[in-house]
Amino acid sequence: MVLTGRTPPRRGPAAVVAALTCTIALVAVGCTGDDEGGFRPGAADAGDPYVPGRGNGGYDVTHYGLDVRYDPATDRLTGRATISATATQDLSRFNLDLAGLDVGAVTVGGARAEHRRGDGELVVTPSDGLTRGQPFSVAVEYAGVPAPVADGALGVGGFLHTDDGAIALGQPDSAATWFPVNDHPSDKASYDIAVTVPDGLAALSNGVPGPKRSAGGWTTWRWAERQPMASYLTTLVIGDYRVTTGTHAGRPMVTAVPSSEPAGGAAAASLARTGAIVDFLATRFGPYPFESYGGIVVADPRIGYALETQSRPVYGPGFFLDDRPNPAVVAHELAHQWFGDSVSLSHWRDIWLNEGFASYAEWLWEEHDGGRTAQRAFEAQYATTDWSQPSVDPGRAAMFGNAVYKRGALAVHALRRTVGDDAFFRILRAWTAERRDGNATTEDLIVLAERVSGRQLRSLFDAWLVGGSAPALP
Ligand SMILES: [Zn+2]
Repeated sequence: MVLTGRTPPRRGPAAVVAALTCTIALVAVGCTGDDEGGFRPGAADAGDPYVPGRGNGGYDVTHYGLDVRYDPATDRLTGRATISATATQDLSRFNLDLAGLDVGAVTVGGARAEHRRGDGELVVTPSDGLTRGQPFSVAVEYAGVPAPVADGALGVGGFLHTDDGAIALGQPDSAATWFPVNDHPSDKASYDIAVTVPDGLAALSNGVPGPKRSAGGWTTWRWAERQPMASYLTTLVIGDYRVTTGTHAGRPMVTAVPSSEPAGGAAAASLARTGAIVDFLATRFGPYPFESYGGIVVADPRIGYALETQSRPVYGPGFFLDDRPNPAVVAHELAHQWFGDSVSLSHWRDIWLNEGFASYAEWLWEEHDGGRTAQRAFEAQYATTDWSQPSVDPGRAAMFGNAVYKRGALAVHALRRTVGDDAFFRILRAWTAERRDGNATTEDLIVLAERVSGRQLRSLFDAWLVGGSAPALP
């Protein structure tokens, strides 16, 4: 199998066809007068078959201002989302993803807008059409009891009510369970997040901490993530936590462990390695891409995974059952800050770009920490790999499978062996610098690697990522 010619699905053709049809026959089903004059509805999803219905078309979000209040006693969340966006077409109406929750007033540009709900969708019709290139703001008032994502690919995801608060987390989708969002990594945006919770509880999220304010028994915690962030990398962790706030390399470092955990336990000891690990990874990948650092360990056993939520990964309790620290999982999640968070996927079929590099970072850290060399890790993995499973476009059911993680890491090391250490690390640094805060595909990586190394590498990537039999060792 080869990579070339496998073009990704593109957003929008169905909508274009529908709009053309509507122009010809305005009375056709689904067509309304607002399709006249070239204004047409934005697509109801991002066209990514791994997450049908997720994401939307017709606009590009630049910023989310989220102001939410959560009461663990009633499990009720009230929110106001102020979304800044730009129309990418002449837009008669557009969708936001929102799972459950009741919507009150919706305004566009300060003017009341019509809205209705579909399956996981909030459909907004502004009083006037939005012209292509026009910046606009949407404000949504909403409330209700948030629900988990039933089919979260990493187990239970979305908004979980916990013993002491709540956790909103999950890949590939979770954000729509607590705010209206264009829920696909192809539309990254900056965030300001204010979370109001009863006094005494912590409310943790992404980015730089802002001033905390208490009034009437409630405390508002503020967070700002100014670097563009994919929606699945947002998190909200509310509960009884021991929060440590400091600085690292002149930037805020915020870590948190459940108060129920021992102060010197494996979870806290693992998070305490964050600064050292991030500094090591920066020597390999280039400068750390964000304005803050940290990590959050949660106690709820339903979180059977760790996720690279931007600038502040969340780790499930299962990683810290031994008495010893677990730096490998920290290295994995921190590597994602470059691979996945700063340089994000354009579509989920390329998830190996996240997981292959993060898995490879575990090997780099192990070698740096005095353990097995990356070459030995590569040899051991090579011997046990099932080559029938592709790393690229593995299918939705296998998007978290070994072919994505381990075979992906093998491909990364095969590239290193082929081009040599000097060119390899120049490729990684060029990738993280040139694609910083953006999106990319497997094809983009191949083109960049060939340019930086001056070598033809397509057949190498083909063999290591998607070929059906074990490639010759480089
Ligand atoms: Zn990962």
